Amino acid sequence: MTTMKTTASHITQEATMTPPTKIYGEITGPIVMIGFGSIGKGTIPLLMRHFKFDKSRMVVIDPSDRDKKILDQHGIKFIKAALTSDNYQELLAPLLKNGTGTGFCINLSVDVSSVDVMKFCRDQGAHYIDTVVEPWTGFYFDTSVGNSGRSNYALRESMLNERAQNPGGITAVSCCGANPGMVSWFVKQALVHLAQDLKIPFDMPTSKTEWAKLMQKVGVKGIHIAERDTQRARLPKPMNTFVNTWSVEGFICEGMQPSELGWGTHEKWMPENAARHDSGCQAAIYLNQPGANTKVRTWCPTPGAQYGRLVTHNESISIADYFTVGTGANAEYRPTCHYAYHPANDSILSLEEMFGANGERQPEHFILNENEIVDGMDELGVLLYGHDKNAYWYGSQLTIEETRALAPYQNATGLQVTSAVIAGVAWALENPKAGIVEADEMDFKRCLEFQLPYLGAVKGYYTDWNPLKDRPGMFPENLETSDAWQFKNVLVKN
Ligand code: NAD
Repeated sequence: MTTMKTTASHITQEATMTPPTKIYGEITGPIVMIGFGSIGKGTIPLLMRHFKFDKSRMVVIDPSDRDKKILDQHGIKFIKAALTSDNYQELLAPLLKNGTGTGFCINLSVDVSSVDVMKFCRDQGAHYIDTVVEPWTGFYFDTSVGNSGRSNYALRESMLNERAQNPGGITAVSCCGANPGMVSWFVKQALVHLAQDLKIPFDMPTSKTEWAKLMQKVGVKGIHIAERDTQRARLPKPMNTFVNTWSVEGFICEGMQPSELGWGTHEKWMPENAARHDSGCQAAIYLNQPGANTKVRTWCPTPGAQYGRLVTHNESISIADYFTVGTGANAEYRPTCHYAYHPANDSILSLEEMFGANGERQPEHFILNENEIVDGMDELGVLLYGHDKNAYWYGSQLTIEETRALAPYQNATGLQVTSAVIAGVAWALENPKAGIVEADEMDFKRCLEFQLPYLGAVKGYYTDWNPLKDRPGMFPENLETSDAWQFKNVLVKN
């Protein structure tokens, strides 16, 4: 093994245990939170800490009341109900119109269509934010529409269609969690570091076109959303239980979607089971295999080289699309972009168990909370590769101990998400007429200012690792030796 270069080259901040207290803005109308799972619970204390609002006009809707006591403690109303395509307008209308001011809908649920709710909120004159483009229940497992039809590409296109039909207007933020969300801000910060370190002259980009051209100029071939979750549970995972550090349902659904990736212009080879979509932006392809069972080689500062799962995510497509020079399948330049996720060890075991049982979901689902986790961190960043300095990882290294000190009701994974939601809400209040936006289109510096106090150590590391490095060579492999950073070398084929 080569020695890993794990000394940070850029230190945005060292870890802190001091909770921030600054007020980020005022929500003048009612707040409606849809979904009160691991992310909803964690968002509540941050919302109360950073925004002025009328608590008597806040309401949370969820079909499960298992954590209602948290809301009772804070004097926040709860409605026990499941939103459906039939009832959402009737349920939401009076809540969004309750009193004066501009309302805010924070959608942190599963099985509720983001696009339908976003459209309705904007029609009612309320702001909206979510962390995924979520469909109504049934979409992810609908085999009648084919794998392209149940992809994140299709979901994102439905959001882009809504924006094309109703441009401008009140701000609604699409996909503003950790990833998708925060990582889009990291990509821009990492690119600026790279351009500076490579001594490439540039003016700070101010438009999508300028950002894409800078990415091209810096020579980035691709980007991994490279994550290692080392959070460990006090008790070992029981059989037939899917354990995760965030939504089990969300992870199973996306894990069973086709593997999807933004498809870069430097790629010379495509897997045999890869396909393009028939319409839309053409920034991404999909593989006819489940993402959570698709392994890739990647790198994070703590483990060094590691396997990640190429689970489909909205940001794989939105980042590749945002940094495209030209358009369509034959663009002049586009980076490859995909998730390379090593979830918590218990989640890996849960995936092995599920795929081993022909994809049959475990009957029990369990999300590890901050008290059940003994130690570990969520190391979540972006690995920009293929340029003259090889590869650069930039991201958040947030431990469970720091998380417990910074905010209640969540683990490290949760806090990276909830603090991004808070940043998105704050940005929307400062930019109330921006229409429907993706994280890539928001002011990354301003959003990170809001979020940084919750991210633990935020640092950048160069590495000399590449996917051809340290292969023992004992078995024949079909590799592309002329360019280490080809997807052919990243994808684990055996
Ligand atoms: P969770 O499974 O813990 O909670 C989801 C909640 O939604 C549950 O309490 C459930 O009862 C509720 N719900 C289910 N059906 C509903 C309906 N019809 N109407 C209203 N509520 C309903 O999930 P979580 O970990 O809190 O995640 C919430 C969402 O955030 C998921 O969509 C997840 O994929 C997403 N997420 C995004 C990121 C990111 O970084 N972008 C990270 C984590 C989670």
